[in-house]
Amino acid sequence: MLYRPYGSTGKQVSAIGFGAMRFPDQNNVEACANLVKTAYDAGINYFDTAIGYGKSEELCGVAFAEMQKTRSQKPFYVATKTFAGTESDVRRELETSLTRMKLPYIDFYHVWCVLSQNAWKDRKAAGVLKAFEKMKSEGLIKHICVSSHMSGSEIGSVLEEYPFDGVLLGYSAMNFAFREAALAAAAKLNRAVVAMNPLGGGVIPQFPDRFAFVKTRPEETVVEGALRFLLNDPRITVSLVGFSTVEHIREAIRAVDGFKPLPADKLAGIRASLKEAFNELCTGCQYCDECPQGIPVPKFMDAYNQYMLQGKPKELVDRLNWHWGIKPETDYLQKCTECGQCETACTQHLPIIKRLKEIRAELEKAAAAAAAAKAAEAAKPA
Ligand code: SF4
Ligand code: SF4
Repeated sequence: MLYRPYGSTGKQVSAIGFGAMRFPDQNNVEACANLVKTAYDAGINYFDTAIGYGKSEELCGVAFAEMQKTRSQKPFYVATKTFAGTESDVRRELETSLTRMKLPYIDFYHVWCVLSQNAWKDRKAAGVLKAFEKMKSEGLIKHICVSSHMSGSEIGSVLEEYPFDGVLLGYSAMNFAFREAALAAAAKLNRAVVAMNPLGGGVIPQFPDRFAFVKTRPEETVVEGALRFLLNDPRITVSLVGFSTVEHIREAIRAVDGFKPLPADKLAGIRASLKEAFNELCTGCQYCDECPQGIPVPKFMDAYNQYMLQGKPKELVDRLNWHWGIKPETDYLQKCTECGQCETACTQHLPIIKRLKEIRAELEKAAAAAAAAKAAEAAKPA
């Protein structure tokens, strides 16, 4: 395992972190705890969870109780987050997280999911940072961090403004251009960068052929290539992988163990072609999933990814139908008022409304074709 300094904190963290948001079955306590423990045994020492990831904190807590026995010789670090917007709520959420994980303190506590400059201003005005500082002075948290889906330059200005020890942001071979300025600011200020969604929310392994150019050796998988793409950037402290199986852990460990830095010109070539091709994909983060009309926007955008990657309207219609259970004749998209809420929330700043219109046109064509086929069938002589 490769270890990197977490900003200026003096802590050495593993270049691959455990993202505890993708447990396959949260009711299977033993299997989930075993996954965490397996990662720890393999050298991963950075564990990221959140109060809002279902039972994730409790499940991690089961493993942590075991891991505490060896913590003095083999350290591990816990990151969690709060979206709370008042001082008292922040404290209540921290206490809940500590209880759930049976920990005396949190190593990296995050002001979670700052989505816009206004949201950042509101949280500051509500005393969120004051609450963090107080809890830090009491030893309940060790480091104050932030997570954000804003653009790179907006995140950079937040880092300039407040001395967060580290930042958690979405970063992958698919969207790195969008966050480049944040990495530059973090490096200048000596802050840690934890990259979430390094596999583009699962899109990269789903399309190994399309992403084959991130591979730099014939024998590596596209997952290894995508992780090594991030490992090549010394400004990225930890790449957080949402592990669901032991094999996922093994594959990530292989990516680190076989890692050799790429020559600068080769890396620049990959970055240039990636920038051209893949900055427009949905990463499945679900932050747009609050449509007042009840439209499941992330499902439609996931299907649009298939359309973009495979270039055929049929893929779009089939993905909605077979993967998400949305039939061409459903009237979801007629309800869109174009209010723009989903676009404001979108972490990739995608033109969702325009895409929804394209999807609607394709669904209408598919519904008309299905109706015509049905009518033709009914018209056949018995
Ligand atoms: S623009 Fe349409 S899909 Fe987006 S939140 Fe508004 S109503 Fe929902
Ligand atoms: S459309 Fe944007 S906000 Fe919604 S899931 Fe995709 S990337 Fe996330």
